[in-house]
Formats: sequence, C-alpha cells, structure tokens
Amino acid sequence: MGVVSRARRASAGMLLAGAGVGAVQVAPLVSWQPAVRRRLPRLQGSGRADHVALTFDDGPDPESTPQLLDLLDDLGVRATFFVLGSMVAAAPSLARRLVDDGHEVALHGWHHRNSLLVSPRALDTVEESAGVRPDLYRPPYGVLSAATAYAARSLGLTTVLWGAWGADWGVTATPASVLRTLAPDLVGGTTVLLHDSDCTSSPGSWRSTLGAVRPLVDGLRARRLTVGALGEHGLPV
Ligand SMILES: [Zn+2]
Repeated sequence: MGVVSRARRASAGMLLAGAGVGAVQVAPLVSWQPAVRRRLPRLQGSGRADHVALTFDDGPDPESTPQLLDLLDDLGVRATFFVLGSMVAAAPSLARRLVDDGHEVALHGWHHRNSLLVSPRALDTVEESAGVRPDLYRPPYGVLSAATAYAARSLGLTTVLWGAWGADWGVTATPASVLRTLAPDLVGGTTVLLHDSDCTSSPGSWRSTLGAVRPLVDGLRARRLTVGALGEHGLPV
C-alpha cells in the first residue's frame, strides 16, 4: 500500500504539460502550485462557484460501491465515477446501476497503472456495460503526459483531475481525517476526489470514505453550495 500511497502523493506534483504532442516520456514539469492550478482550471475541475463536484475513482466494486450508491440516493446527490475497465468487466451490472441511479460514468483506465496509453478496450467495455460512452478521463495517479492527453482527446475524452482530495486511501484514514484533509481546498467550484473501491488502496479504506460522505455533503450544503456531478459543474470549455 505504501507504494500506492507514495505514488498518489507524488502525482500531486506531476502535472505534465509536455511541449509536443509526440512526447512519450513522463516527467514532472510543473508543480501542483496555486499559480499553476489557476492556469489549468479545466484540468483541475474548477467549475461554478456555487457548486462542488463529487467524484469517485477505482470502482465499481461489489463490496463497497452499492453502499455508497445507497447513501448518495438517500442524500439526493449525483456524482461522477471514474471507473476501471477491469472492475466494470467483473461487475457489469454495477456499471449499469451507476447510470440507472443518475450518476455519470467516466473512464479511469483498464488496470490502475501509470500508462501513457488510454485503453480503447476500457472505453468499449464501459460503454457496453453502462450503456453510455464516457466523455471524461482521469489517468491513474493523476499522471498526465502530452501523449496521454493526446490519446484521450483522440478518443473524445476530456481529462479532468481534481482540486481537493481526502487521502482516503491510507491505512490510517478515518472519516474525520478525510474531512480534515479535504477542508483547506474545499471551496466553491472545486472537484473532490474520493474512492469507492479499495482495489488500489488499504483494505477496507472505502469505509472511511463512506463515513465521510454524509458530513461532507451536509457541510457543503450548510455553506449553500450545491453538490453534484461534473456534468453539472460548469467546467470551462
Ligand atoms: Zn485511481
């Protein structure tokens, strides 16, 4: 799990702009700094000031995702799920439920690997199972190369990372730690990254995520912010 956690932490500083479309190497060119974030509003998922986008990565997972879907239904919240093709292939009916429940299905790759490629197989598998073709993409670990961005665009995918994360993948994560970690970046217009599966995280870490969602949504609503999916977020074009 340490490797995954380190990779995820490292990815925060690895926004790769890449000088040329043909570049194939992955190397950190810029840091995850506020000045950089302001220059890349769509990539970091900046939307309407009165809205916060809720996104979940790495599922769908038969153990955890249904419980999250029940909770979101109870809260009346729609979210965006960046799914893995391999997880969808193992639980196709769950991908369909995401859509049936009103959520957005977006692509996170086939396996959770740092790859320069965007898997057409994953895109096709998600479309066949969910019944909709994703148009949003988030690379595993948020590592983005010029080649990856080009590959995503050529498949009709817009790449969206995040503006706030809860570090919900760690072995020591709790609902309270997730909320604490999110808090400094929890402003109107941000995109929140959480995980609905522990397939690349500490076993059972999804329970911390699940425990954080209701107080997160309640807290945002108390600030008169609307919580929803990226499709309602007003991403810059
Ligand atoms: Zn992921």
